[in-house]
This record gives sequence, structure tokens and C-alpha cells, in this order.
Amino acid sequence: MQSIPVCAPLMLGNPTLDWNFYTVPQQYSCFSLNNQSSYYPRGRGLGGTSNLNFMVWLRGHPFDFDNWSELTQDERWSYDELLPYFRKSETYTADGDSSFHGFDGEVTVSPASYGPIAKHFVKAAEEMGYPKVDLNAPYQEGFNEHVYNQKRGHRAGAFNAFLQPIRQSRRDKLTIRKYAHVTKVLFKGSNNLAYGVEYEKGGIVHQAKCTKEVILSAGAISSPLILMRSGIGATQHLESVGINPRVNLPGVGQNLQDHVIGLVGPFVIDPVDGQHLTYLASRDSSPSDLLQYVGSGTGPLSQAGVMASGFVASNKTKLIAKINNKIIWPDIQLILLGIPKDASAIASLAKVYNLRRDIAEEFYSPVVGQDSFHIMSIASRPKSRGQILLSNKDPKARPWIDPKYYHHPDDIAVTIEGVKKAIHLVENTKTFQSIGARLSTTPFPSCRSHEFRSDAYWECYLRHYTLSVYHQAGTCKMGRADDPEAVVDASLSVRGTERLRVIDASIMPQIVSSNIQAACTVIGERGSQIIKEYWGIAP
Ligand SMILES: Cc1cc2nc3c(=O)[nH]c(=O)nc-3n(C[C@H](O)[C@H](O)[C@H](O)COP(=O)(O)OP(=O)(O)OC[C@H]3O[C@@H](n4cnc5c(N)ncnc54)[C@H](O)[C@@H]3O)c2cc1C
Repeated sequence: MQSIPVCAPLMLGNPTLDWNFYTVPQQYSCFSLNNQSSYYPRGRGLGGTSNLNFMVWLRGHPFDFDNWSELTQDERWSYDELLPYFRKSETYTADGDSSFHGFDGEVTVSPASYGPIAKHFVKAAEEMGYPKVDLNAPYQEGFNEHVYNQKRGHRAGAFNAFLQPIRQSRRDKLTIRKYAHVTKVLFKGSNNLAYGVEYEKGGIVHQAKCTKEVILSAGAISSPLILMRSGIGATQHLESVGINPRVNLPGVGQNLQDHVIGLVGPFVIDPVDGQHLTYLASRDSSPSDLLQYVGSGTGPLSQAGVMASGFVASNKTKLIAKINNKIIWPDIQLILLGIPKDASAIASLAKVYNLRRDIAEEFYSPVVGQDSFHIMSIASRPKSRGQILLSNKDPKARPWIDPKYYHHPDDIAVTIEGVKKAIHLVENTKTFQSIGARLSTTPFPSCRSHEFRSDAYWECYLRHYTLSVYHQAGTCKMGRADDPEAVVDASLSVRGTERLRVIDASIMPQIVSSNIQAACTVIGERGSQIIKEYWGIAP
């Protein structure tokens, strides 16, 4: 089931697949979520979060990486230097300029095979003057349907793409310890040389030792936790939970970034010539869908609902680009969520986002069973920064995760601009008007005291109905030696230690301005080349 895209939301919360983290109650957001807390799913097992993500494959904008290069003063992280690594991991089967794509890499990237509403979204954007562009090549503003890491309609996650092929062929070189929980890194000597890790399995503590180096790829939540448990972090914090500090690195667990969704909608639509443009499982499921999927990997079962994206710039960003005579680096992502609501979809939405069930039912009940869609407005270069801390010394204790959503006022302002652009797109294009697309007139229950659709209403809406895209990043940030918050250098080595690197989403100094798994993959590709060069085994 895990490999079938339409089942992706069902993977969430399953304790064998998901670490099931939750944030602490938020001060300025999440007001209509249970306990004012955002659910923070993270994949566990071989393949990690790629086992339960929604498979959207977007690299980000070239400036995202040029920015990394500038922040680290290291050309290896610029877009031009990373492009060969993006190409290396890809087998691209969608349309696109071949100079930006790879065709014999591990990850199969495929075009969407279903999504009539997505075609309307892209066409409406063209009507508004936004071009249809390859979102995995350089772009300024533009829209397109998503491409997915899927092979013949099945999830092509990190396990299938990278690990499975070498499990058999390199059995002599690879040992996998399943169900092992790494508790800390082992060090020796005054130079903090890493020589292995300690892990717990089945209640027994073991050690795994290395001859060359230790690489932490436990993701943006767990990599900083493992470092802190090993004595690498802010001395004061470590002492406060009874851990002996080894290296004072105040940046460990700081700089937490994520993308936050303003879920605009529901937009209700009419059927066209009796045909439904959105797929409602309880209404539309038929054996032929299953047959189509089994036969060719196409059709409604081959999608998880997130169907297309547009990258647009706020007025301020556009002005800055114009003044500096630079290309536009969009700061808003609009994502089409093309799934209408039935009773089970409302229950699933409430679960997936930890939204209060009573509020979800009240808000969505007027549109149950009708064709509808949402557009997510996301401040794609957020300014709020959160943190992850240890709650105590116990290696299995739940961490203290505080993403500080919407702490920075610009994040609210940019997201509201995106909300208005989304509504404008729907209400002012022939494409959407021809299918009767209209914003539901039911106000969000917690924001009824505000004038519907006013800025105050939208701010209330965003701060109550605060949802994450689950793009956690930045908690072991890469940076220059004079950056006090940097945890790893541009070779991904942990400062103050030897033979220890971090290679995952946590090293991003600034989150990329799109979905992030392709950038995580390029970090892996670039990192492995750095290691091979260091040990003199680069091809
Ligand atoms: C529901 C959901 C949908 C998403 N959809 C998309 C999408 O459509 N497109 C996109 O680009 N991104 C998406 N993302 C985000 C993306 O999948 C992740 O950001 C990315 O996979 C992170 O990769 P990573 O290598 O940094 O960490 P992970 O993939 O999380 O890998 C970390 C690994 O370390 C293991 N680990 C952690 N702690 C320990 C420990 N103590 N001991 C042993 N092992 C440990 C974990 O089990 C896991 O296997 C989504 C995320 C979620 C949760």
C-alpha cells in the first residue's frame, strides 16, 4: 500500500513508519489545532521520510543554492556546481530541456497521469500572464503540473532508488541493522575523533565502530538530537538536562525552518458535461480505476492530491529584483490540492493536520460531496526560525520542538499576499469561471468575528488553521567558521570534531523555496562526492 500514491495520507501516524512527533503549543499560530500543536510526521525505517511523503519532485530555484554558496563562501554549493548532481540522481521521464535533466540516475521522475483540475490551474495561470515552465530547471515566476518520484505509478522512494539496488550487489560492504535506535556518537581523544555510534536494539545497547568516519543522516529532527546526546550543542542547554558537554556548538537544534500552509478554499466547482473534475473516492471509485492502475500505473490512484505548483513573487520581492536588475527569486509557492471533501476526507484532514475535528466538520460540512479544490499559499522563504531541544537525558524521550510558526510578521504578510493571488487567479480567469469555481462562503468558525475575506480575517485564519508542509530543515546548519550558529562546515564536517559529518535536510542554512526532497537528495550526492574526494576514492 505504501507504494500506491493515493494511499500516501494513510501512512501517517502508523508507528512502524512514522516517528509521530508533535510540536510544543505554538504562541502565535495553530490556535485551532488540538493542543495548539502541529503534528510533525517523520518517516522511520529504510528510506526515511521518503516512505511517507507525497512524492512531489521539485528542486528549488537556482538562487536557493547560490545563496548557500554565498553563506558558506564555497562554490561547491552554487546552482551551477550542483546541477550535475541533480542530473546524476535522476531518470527524468517528463518533458523538459535535456541540459537540465538526467536520464540514467537512481530516482525515476515521472509526469502526472491524472488531474483534470491541474490543467485548469496551469491554464488559468497562463491567462494571468504566468508562463508554464519546467519547475525543475531555472525559472522566474511560473506554473506547471507536478512531476513525481514514481516509477510506473509507484513510489520511487530513497529505499527503492538507492538502497535496494546495492543491498544484494554490495552485500560484502553493507551491513544494515534494522530497528536500531542510535543514541549517541562515540568519540575519543582531545580532538573529539568520532569512531562509531552507540545504538539500542531490542533493549540491548550495542556499538558500531568505523575505520573511516561517522555520517549522521537522521533528518532535521533527529540529527541534532543525536549530536546533543553526544555532548555537541549549547553547553548551557546540555548541562541543564544532565549531559556532559563536549563541544560548545550553540547552533545545534537552532535555525529550524519549515514551510507553513495557508490552505485557501474550499473552491467549489461544477461538473463539465456531466464529468467530475475532481476525484471523490466515495463517489467515483470504480473497479476500472484499479484495473487502470494495476495495468499501467496511471489514473486517479496514481496521485496523492498535490497536483501542481506556481511560484510567484510578492510585490516587494518583484520590486527588489527590478531595482537590482536581477532575475526574480519567488517567495510564494501556490500548490493545488485537488481533493474534494467527503466525510472520510474531513476525518483524514483533521488527523493529518491535528486540526480540531469539530472545527473541521463545521467548516467543511457545507461542501461535502461537491467537487472542490484548495490552493495552498506558502511563504516559501520564511523568516521565522524555531528550535529543537532535548526535554531530558533519556534517548527515547520526545524532543522539545518549537517551530515558532509565524513569529516573524513578514511570513504572515507574504502568505496573505499569496492567499489573495490564489483567489484572484480563481475569480478572474475565464478558465476557472467556465467551471463555476467559487470560494466557499462559509467563514472559518474561529474567525467569524472578522469581516469575511478582510486582511484581519485572513490573519486570523492563518494563525488558527496553521498547517505544515512537513519540510523541516536547517537544524545543523552549514556555514563559515566565523558564523557562530554554523554546526557543519561546507564539507559537512561537524565543527570541533573529526571524522563526523551530517548529511541531510538539517544542513540547509536556508530552506529551499520549494518542496525539499530533491534538495535533500542533492545534499546526499554532493556529500558523498566530498567524502570520496577526502578519502582519495573519487572516480
Ligand atoms: C507527510 C509528508 C509529505 C511530504 N511530501 C513531500 C513531497 O511531496 N515532496 C518533497 O519534496 N518533500 C516532501 N516531504 C518532505 C521530505 O520527504 C523530507 O524533507 C525529506 O525526505 C527529508 O529527508 P532527510 O534525509 O533529511 O530525512 P529522513 O528522510 O527523515 O531520514 C532520516 C532517517 O533517519 C532515521 N533515524 C532518525 N533517528 C534515528 C535514530 N536515533 N536511530 C536510527 N535511525 C534514526 C529515520 O528513521 C529515517 O530513516 C514530506 C514530508 C512529509 C512528512
